[in-house]
Amino acid sequence: MTMTFSADEDFALRLDAEDPLRQFREKFHLPLGKDGKPLIYFAGNSLGPMPKAARQIVDEELDNWARLGVDAHHATGTPWYSYHEALREPSARLVGAKPLEVICMNSLTVNLHLMMATFYRPTKSRFKILMEDPAFPSDNYAIKTQIVHYGLDPKDALLLARPRKGEFTIRTEDILDVIEEHSDRLAVVIFGGVNFFTGQLLDIEGITAAARKHGIIAGFDLAHAIGNVPLSLHDWNIDFAVWCSYKYLNAGPGAVAGAFVHERHATNTSLPRLAGWFGNDPTTRFRLHLEPEFIPVPSADGWQISNPPIFSMAPLRASLAIFDKAGGMEPLRAKSSRLTSHLEFLLNQNASKRFTIITPKSPNERGCQLSILAHEHPKELHNELITAGVKCDFREPNVIRGAPTPLYNTFHEVWRFARILNEHR
Ligand SMILES: *Cc1c(COP(=O)(O)O)cnc(C)c1O
Repeated sequence: MTMTFSADEDFALRLDAEDPLRQFREKFHLPLGKDGKPLIYFAGNSLGPMPKAARQIVDEELDNWARLGVDAHHATGTPWYSYHEALREPSARLVGAKPLEVICMNSLTVNLHLMMATFYRPTKSRFKILMEDPAFPSDNYAIKTQIVHYGLDPKDALLLARPRKGEFTIRTEDILDVIEEHSDRLAVVIFGGVNFFTGQLLDIEGITAAARKHGIIAGFDLAHAIGNVPLSLHDWNIDFAVWCSYKYLNAGPGAVAGAFVHERHATNTSLPRLAGWFGNDPTTRFRLHLEPEFIPVPSADGWQISNPPIFSMAPLRASLAIFDKAGGMEPLRAKSSRLTSHLEFLLNQNASKRFTIITPKSPNERGCQLSILAHEHPKELHNELITAGVKCDFREPNVIRGAPTPLYNTFHEVWRFARILNEHR
């Protein structure tokens, strides 16, 4: 895909005028600056803005609670008892899964633990886990404590794939080399589909194939991938995945998260797991005292533990409806690639070398985020962005992450963001 750009403001305005997704911006509340104008909101990789439809859908459930009390579990509309089912198909579309492979529940890190409880079954010979460095801290804590939980030592059991010296992103070949080298010791490989720090999109399919060839479980954390890049989890054959919904899915703080379990495992009711009543076959769920055996649902639902948290699910329904209305990830990705490449083009106009973009240059190896490493006064640069009405984030010691998203950002915002950075002295 070749894209040609111009640094003119008019060019950015023209791209916005021609953008078939431009009306979706109206579906969000964008935080306002001191001047009452919308901030340039490039922080959707941390917390997506509020879909306007979220308020009404939450209000409806508050009304149902007020009017119906316990009867709302089985009332018409979207009964609470099976509320998670309303999220299943739109979520499955976003990750490229069969509906039976997806369950929305809990939060991301909890789901990671639940998946590891099933898929990390260390033996004397096969007990190692491979993950990336830097990984998101929560993933690090989760994986290390999984290892310790089995009486093992992360020093022996944890392998890290790192960028080479002087590089910022991890080469796929290096990941595959580690898998080959430790193929008979590795139990699980777990990677962020899109790295939270660099914005690198990994070759999920290639890593999965390399792992599975040796009987190694391939799991992915899709916190920065879902709603950002197209995914085909079923066809890529990955074993499991987890994600959160408050970043690119705009479902609100602490919104309910999701998990994918590949069909070949999801239907296998003999797999060990940490269970709760909502993972049990619904036909016997309420006969617990009569039939005390746990009978898992033969789908990803078999990992569900508790009854669905309605108020952290309702906004996700509103958000997923927006993704469907936009036509799914394909049109969104097309605009997203252009937005980010436009931003990259404009930043590269700056010859001063005061900053380096550490995100991969190829649009196929990144999502929407660009990670900008500032060589001098990084905090001041970030403060300048804040003062100028930009919301983006700063990662110690010197990286500014900006994530222009196709649902609510514009090419003109990208142009303004680049102008602020390029005029910084
Ligand atoms: C955002 C993020 C998390 C957050 O975990 P929660 O359990 O939702 O708090 C975990 N891992 C990665 C890679 C993330 O980007």
